Amino acid sequence: MGFAGFRGNAATVTQLRQMVARDRLPHAIILTGAAGAGKYTLAQMVAKAVNCLAPLVAEDGLPDFCGRCSNCERIGQADALDQRFAEAVEAREAMRESDKRETRIFVQTHAEVLIIPPDPPQMLVKVDQVRHLIATLYSRPVEGRQKFYIFSQASFVKEAANALLKALEEPPPFATIFLLAENAQALLPTIRSRCITLHLAPLTTEEIAADLALRTEWTAAQKKLVARLSGGAVGRARCFDLNGYLAARRDALLLLTTALGENDHAALFRATESYRAGAEGKMKTELLIAVLYSLLEDLLFLRSGVGEQMRNPDLAAELDAISSQVSFDWIVRASEGLGAVQAGMRRNLLRSLSLDGYSSSLEL
Ligand SMILES: [Zn+2]
Repeated sequence: MGFAGFRGNAATVTQLRQMVARDRLPHAIILTGAAGAGKYTLAQMVAKAVNCLAPLVAEDGLPDFCGRCSNCERIGQADALDQRFAEAVEAREAMRESDKRETRIFVQTHAEVLIIPPDPPQMLVKVDQVRHLIATLYSRPVEGRQKFYIFSQASFVKEAANALLKALEEPPPFATIFLLAENAQALLPTIRSRCITLHLAPLTTEEIAADLALRTEWTAAQKKLVARLSGGAVGRARCFDLNGYLAARRDALLLLTTALGENDHAALFRATESYRAGAEGKMKTELLIAVLYSLLEDLLFLRSGVGEQMRNPDLAAELDAISSQVSFDWIVRASEGLGAVQAGMRRNLLRSLSLDGYSSSLEL
């Protein structure tokens, strides 16, 4: 419970807590980091620490939150953002057509903390969402010490970015706006210059593996694999679909080894048949393509003599066998071919045929 539950990036977390301690939280903070790095979790923790009704001082002398008071509890109801977001979208879907068009997506479980997700289907923040922020920004907080606005993915339509700029020019002293972004460069320079920017760096494989220590359903080797594949993002590691990944990887290997003449085509056809039309098939195919890229990258690592950088270290023997049969050019061609498969998916080509065709295009 509390900030101790946040894994890694100690310097950034300390910096934020020191600002809370001195009552010097900036009006606008850009928090950057990869998907799953913990940006939203940390913003929520800061909102709780400032508004906690029974604030604690942790062992390190810095402020912490109790997690149990009514403010912590209500703010915490939005910790599961994906779920709250899906509920808000569903509620809008149930509206009359005319109301639907005028309704924007927000998540709010506490009066002083407004979460502004990108609005689907474009997944951009719309100007109406920023107007709602402006309309409420200047009224004093009633149920807490400070108001928070959290843009969970700070990608704006142009008009929304310009509207936000105005709010950033004259912020009230009792509100903090968090802009969460994978890359600060994607924000307007004029917005960036009015915010302080903090970064959440990727964690090491060891730090991620330590975070997964209690996951008894995974072996030590599997935890190491998940740590490698999650790119240092603890959120991705925690909800990693290992079974889905391993199934996709079996198919990806089958596709490559069939191209090299190691099995007959019947096995490949059976596998590719399961990549069907529809949303589920699309996700399955996208995962397969991502896994194929990671295997091809590992083949490049092996050929370049830096096998220790492999993302699938548990497949070293299988990939070593493949890399001894193929050339550097073949790997490049295979990567380019995957781009064509993706383009075919956008044109709605039958996925199984497209995958079979990809495999035969790689035959030696
Ligand atoms: Zn509390």
